[in-house]
Amino acid sequence: MGNRAYNFNAGPAALPLEVLEQAQKEFVDFRGIGMSIMEISHRSAEYEAVNNETQNLLKELFSIPDGYKVLFLQGGASTQFTMIPMNFLQAGQTAAYVQSGAWADKAIKEAKLFGETAVVASSKDQKFMRMPDLGALNLSDQTAYLHVTSNETIEGSQVQSYPDTGSIPLIADMSSDILSRPVDVSKFGLIYAGAQKNLGPSGVTVVILREDMLERANANLPTMFRYDTHVKNDSLYNTPPSYSVYMINLVLHWIKRQGGLAALEKINRDKTDLIYNAIDASGGFYQGCVDADSRSRMNITFRLQSEELEKLFVKESQANGFVGLKGHRSVGGLRASTYNAVPYESCQALAQFMNDFSKRNG
Ligand code: PMP
Repeated sequence: MGNRAYNFNAGPAALPLEVLEQAQKEFVDFRGIGMSIMEISHRSAEYEAVNNETQNLLKELFSIPDGYKVLFLQGGASTQFTMIPMNFLQAGQTAAYVQSGAWADKAIKEAKLFGETAVVASSKDQKFMRMPDLGALNLSDQTAYLHVTSNETIEGSQVQSYPDTGSIPLIADMSSDILSRPVDVSKFGLIYAGAQKNLGPSGVTVVILREDMLERANANLPTMFRYDTHVKNDSLYNTPPSYSVYMINLVLHWIKRQGGLAALEKINRDKTDLIYNAIDASGGFYQGCVDADSRSRMNITFRLQSEELEKLFVKESQANGFVGLKGHRSVGGLRASTYNAVPYESCQALAQFMNDFSKRNG
């Protein structure tokens, strides 16, 4: 690892070292063209090849069935909070949301600007210490779609199994756990994810859209906010974030070399078991923030007995080469983000540090 930090940042987050090194090699001369990928037209054959290959790799790795389109958009996952109700919530309908944490709340806030919304499951009363129960949702016939947040990045909870919604489109914000485990994509009308946690650098948002969703979309929307604009133009209606898409391409090749999503799911489980075990075996020195059956395999949140001790933990962890362990400013505490590219060795080192720290301060 040389002088690489133990990077537990929540996003933008760690990228695989191999990917960074390949990008470095190709930085000034992309595959013999004498220019960087950043310096060429998005209409060039070279960029179109990257655009196509990246879509195809995503289809292959995520087992996306026929009838779905992969888009590379801008504006972050936050713009999807707006585009989804703008396109798919019609007069007389209700948009159903699962209220699982801070990111779900932001999505709900935007949907309210466009029409009727309903919170059909919530864990707000439990301070978002768990994922709401998705087993018995009551969805009216007038439901435009059901929106879920697969992984709450701030609170550290994760959907363990997705509901069946029949003919009602299921829409998921998978920003912080996409490609961390296999998912049955055929259950979804739309999946979206900002890239900067599991897919690549910031600047691009991946949208996976079932093509029949377009038939439900509202007419007369501004061009850039219409999904069909981007579908018709293969994500090249306007200038795309070409370097970010190229980086996703390299990350997807890396995922393939790791053995795909089943292999990543296993290693993510092993990685996070190390840290959750350190919490659970600490005799209450560390306290996990989320109920065991809702725990995230991407963002591990925990607390110490006092804020002073938490400050000391952050300070000492930094001195030992760990980065990004301070919890989100809105909830405090500590958080270790263990996305795909965070190596097993970093998690081992963190578990070891946690054990040592508790011995010294317990
Ligand atoms: N949803 C989730 C689950 C997130 O974690 C984030 C970013 N942390 C967002 C949405 C917002 O993403 P962006 O910054 O790309 O708009």
